[in-house]
Amino acid sequence: MATSNGEKSLIVSFGEMLIDFVPTVSGVSLADAPGFIKAPGGAPANVAIAISRLGGRSAFVGKLGDDEFGHMLAGILKQNGVSAEGINFDTGARTALAFVTLRSDGEREFMFYRNPSADMLLRPDELNLDLIRSAKVFHYGSISLIVEPCRSAHLKAMEVAKEAGALLSYDPNLRLPLWPSKEEAQKQILSIWDKAEVIKVSDEELMFLTGSDKVDDDTAMSLWHDNLILLLVTLGEKGCRYYTKSFRGAVDPFRVEAVDTTGAGDSYVGALLCNIVDDRSVLEDETRLREVLRFANACGAITTTKKGAIPALPTEAEVQTLLLKGN
Ligand code: ADP
Repeated sequence: MATSNGEKSLIVSFGEMLIDFVPTVSGVSLADAPGFIKAPGGAPANVAIAISRLGGRSAFVGKLGDDEFGHMLAGILKQNGVSAEGINFDTGARTALAFVTLRSDGEREFMFYRNPSADMLLRPDELNLDLIRSAKVFHYGSISLIVEPCRSAHLKAMEVAKEAGALLSYDPNLRLPLWPSKEEAQKQILSIWDKAEVIKVSDEELMFLTGSDKVDDDTAMSLWHDNLILLLVTLGEKGCRYYTKSFRGAVDPFRVEAVDTTGAGDSYVGALLCNIVDDRSVLEDETRLREVLRFANACGAITTTKKGAIPALPTEAEVQTLLLKGN
């Protein structure tokens, strides 16, 4: 339900926000890059901004460094209309940084500054529980599960949100280089699998989590569990597939000139959550769900047409233009 004054219900997105440093020129190694540009990101923060840009109400919960970059990131959330009431600042550790490049041989090279970074140090006793309890949807990823004390904070926030009646939404957003091993990544990502009511995985994540080399219905359904209401598999330029207890299918993509796919999945998730937060019955009505997923596909597609994640997240008007134009 929307609140009595017609305001949209709150979606809380929990996890990391960081700065990606990307080379000013393409196709170079990190060592050869002549300079870097700051690109704010972190999937849960992107999702919060995606929601607010579409006219929804969102809050980000996580920890930043009490430094120039941490306050810059909090400022970006606020400028984008995301509530910052759930943000903590750590005086001892820095805001997380990730240097990322796509080399000319097609290999992605990463270098993380997380030794540890502030986001990893969020403690359960620091959580703004009133904010979390007021969420109608609570969304999270898996990077916050990698180390303590953030892992315990994540589990507590999930539990408090659930007790207060929130719908739990999970996008694992696998970042293998951040985990000690593949086995640990798979084990921990699946350790909270059965709690979520909405799960979105990419085709690559589906294969990683199941160990299958196929992206088909049987593989997707092997991830099904009893509490799940909606399972989504996004397929990049091929659109997405959806699975519920009573129906399943595929929704076609939009054809666009993609320049940078960063944030497409976050944009897609934000769009979905925005459209179900005040009417969960959409999840039981295939016709309406397909409309919402078409909208989400349009959001994902638009996000690929500009460099960076946050600058490329669309407004409702931009999405309507693409929807009218058609696939
Ligand atoms: P993730 O970023 O999580 O890997 P995807 O890349 O699958 O997620 O993108 C999410 C959605 O965005 C897709 O389901 C699709 O609708 C849209 N999308 C992504 N890449 C493209 C593309 N190149 N062209 C058109 N739509 C795209």
